[in-house]
Amino acid sequence: MPVLKAFFSSGPFMPHGYCYMWDPGLVWLHVISDSLIALSYLSIPFTLGYFVRKRRDLPFHWMFVCFGIFILACGATHAMEVWTLWHADYWVSASIKAITAMASVPTAILLLKLVPHAVALPSPAALRLEIAKRSRAEKELSLAKAELQRRVEKRTAELRKVNEDLLLEIDQRRRIEQTLRNSEGQLRLAQEASGLGVWDWNPRMDIAVWSDQHFQIFGLKPSGQTFDEISFISLIYPEDRAAVKLAIREALRPGGEFDVEYRIQRQDGQLRWVLSQGLTHCDSAGEPFRMIGVTLDVTERRQAAEELRRSEERFRLLVEGTADYAIFMLDPAGFVTSWNSGAERIKGYQAQEIIGQHFSCFYCDEDLRKGRPAKALREAATAGRFEEDGCWLRKDGSRFQANAILTALHDQNEELIGFAKITRDLTESRRADQAVQEAQAELAWVIRMSTMSELTASIAHEINQPLTAIVNNANASRRILANAAPDLGEVQQAVTDIAEAGTRAAEIISRIRELLKKSVPEKTPLDMNQLIHEVVAFIPGILEKQHISMEMELWAALPPVMGDRVQMQQVLLNLIMNGIEAMTTILDRPRVLVIRSDARESGLEVAVQDSGTGLDPRHIDQLFHTFFTTKINGMGMGLSISRSIIEAHSGRLWASNDPTTHGATFRFSLPAMA
Ligand code: ADP
Repeated sequence: MPVLKAFFSSGPFMPHGYCYMWDPGLVWLHVISDSLIALSYLSIPFTLGYFVRKRRDLPFHWMFVCFGIFILACGATHAMEVWTLWHADYWVSASIKAITAMASVPTAILLLKLVPHAVALPSPAALRLEIAKRSRAEKELSLAKAELQRRVEKRTAELRKVNEDLLLEIDQRRRIEQTLRNSEGQLRLAQEASGLGVWDWNPRMDIAVWSDQHFQIFGLKPSGQTFDEISFISLIYPEDRAAVKLAIREALRPGGEFDVEYRIQRQDGQLRWVLSQGLTHCDSAGEPFRMIGVTLDVTERRQAAEELRRSEERFRLLVEGTADYAIFMLDPAGFVTSWNSGAERIKGYQAQEIIGQHFSCFYCDEDLRKGRPAKALREAATAGRFEEDGCWLRKDGSRFQANAILTALHDQNEELIGFAKITRDLTESRRADQAVQEAQAELAWVIRMSTMSELTASIAHEINQPLTAIVNNANASRRILANAAPDLGEVQQAVTDIAEAGTRAAEIISRIRELLKKSVPEKTPLDMNQLIHEVVAFIPGILEKQHISMEMELWAALPPVMGDRVQMQQVLLNLIMNGIEAMTTILDRPRVLVIRSDARESGLEVAVQDSGTGLDPRHIDQLFHTFFTTKINGMGMGLSISRSIIEAHSGRLWASNDPTTHGATFRFSLPAMA
């Protein structure tokens, strides 16, 4: 303890200021200088410490620590210089100096040792060069790295692609295998469905293998049995064996094809037609080593084809043999492609001279100018069928009336392949129609004659009246003129009456003549009411004789109709005479004949109503049939002729019973004049 105390005490020493003799200037110069040095020295280690802490990467940083300690010690030494100016603690001051010395010596030694290393450190320029070199190298390295990366990526992509392709291929193979399996199955099914049997023959070893279906076609049970040529040929119908052998021989060459239809005699006794087709395979020396093919049972097909051939033959014979109709075919442009015997007969051309000619040669010049052939083809092609009545030319240039039907012919794809034309010569039938019409007109005339003969008495009476009037007036005139002073006025009146009566008589006679005349029907505008009056003018005598009262209810504004005057009069006369006859046996009620005319929407209607026996319901359907009559002397022609006349005028004639009069009513309607 006394040592420590001595160490920190001033002891006998005097403060250092005494050395400066307390010269204030000197003292304070020391104080300020030492203080500033001490402060600077004390601050430097902290700065160095901060630097070292921040730059741990610097080399030799322990050197900075040594310097820091050394400078700190130096600072302390200078601080002690200020302290010892007033306090004589020289032991403490010396000790601090000793510490400073201890710090400085190793620092100096270490610095000496460090210098070569420090000198060896690269200069900033070298460092910059180095850095540039390194950064270049780094750049190259990163480029190389990027290239490597790219290559790796490329390779990876390639590998991935290869992998994907591989997967795809695997998948594809799997699918192909599946498809193959399916198609094998389908092939089997198709073979079974189509009935195709497969055979495979090795001609070198003469061994043939058959599919199950092939066995079945030959009526055999499917098995593993093989066949040689002889055993195969033995299954064939004897008559066809030679042909099959020949076909085999001919097919046994490079590219040879086996194609033959033959019959087989099956074990169940059935004779079947089969078709075998195959291909020959040869080696490089041209030697056949395999023939493979299929067999199909074609029995039904052959039967159908045979049936078709027979039916076509029948049809051909029918067409060929039809002499009443010209039947021939045209190609789509209208050129004749076939010709039957009817066509030969009707048109006069032989098949060989007309086939290949255009069908327009059958048309007359005026029809050619109107473009009728082209029109017929066009219409038939569009509508499927075209029918026309007209005039055609024969080979000799003469004309004939015919009805022709042109039918378009199409193939399975609806393509037009031509036309069939059927022509019917109407010359004969027109002639027959003409004859019928003439006969009918003749008959109608006969009926008129017979009706008129029935009316003779009535007509005589009718003519008698004007004749009597003429005679009476003539006598009266003579008497008057015989007087000395004749009354010429009276004579004039009598002569006028004579002229009127004469005209009336002449009219009656001319109407009778008209009715009895054989004239060609001619349609003119007719006033039906006037016609009724004219016909009624024939019958007053008969009405009077039969005690029949006559009533006429005629529509004033009746539309005119087109018709033949004589024919219409005949209809009216028939209906009136029938009504009169139906009333001859009636004794219990008045005999009344009513003639009515009415305008209708489309023309007019005339009714002839009687109060006679009426119509027997059992006969109503037959009244208008030719030769139907219930009268002893009847001809049964009146109503049938009347109906055909009315129908020829586009009208209608019908009959009904009338409950009010107990008689019958006959009505006819006619269209108004267009
Ligand atoms: P026909 O007078 O020569 O017998 P029609 O053809 O004129 O020939 O008449 C056929 C038949 O129709 C007559 O026989 C008669 O039975 C019947 N008939 C025609 N008109 C009348 C009528 N008004 N009343 C009753 N029956 C009639």
